[in-house]
Amino acid sequence: MDYMIGRCRFCGSERDVLADDQERADEMVSKECACGQWEREEDRLRKKFLLKNELARLLGDGCQEMGFTPLSPEVISVAYAVGELIIDEKMEKATLKIGRDSVIITGGVKIGVRRNRKEEWSGEVQ
Ligand SMILES: [Zn+2]
Repeated sequence: MDYMIGRCRFCGSERDVLADDQERADEMVSKECACGQWEREEDRLRKKFLLKNELARLLGDGCQEMGFTPLSPEVISVAYAVGELIIDEKMEKATLKIGRDSVIITGGVKIGVRRNRKEEWSGEVQ
C-alpha cells in the first residue's frame, strides 16, 4: 500500500489515497467523490439487471403463465438494448410491435415495461 493520487473516473477530480495500485486508487476516489456519479452509475447497473429479469418474465418463457407466447431471443435482446438506452436517458420511450403484441418501455424514476396484445373477435349473421 502506498499513497497515490486517485482520479475520479467520472468528473476527473483527484485526491491522495492509500491504495495497492492505480486502479484501486481511482476506484476509491470515484466511489467517495462528491460528484455522486458512482451512485448514479450503480443505480443504472442495478436497473439494467432488474430490467433483464423483467423482460425474461414478460417476453421470455415466463410470459406463458400470463397467456402470452414467448418472443424470439433476438427480439428480447433488442428490447433489452432499447431498455438500456432508456435507463441511460438516451431515449424516453419505445414501443415495439411484434405481430399483435406491443411492448412498451418507458423511462423515468421507475422504468416501466408493459406488454399487451390486441385481440378482436367478430361475427356476422344474416
Ligand atoms: Zn467525481
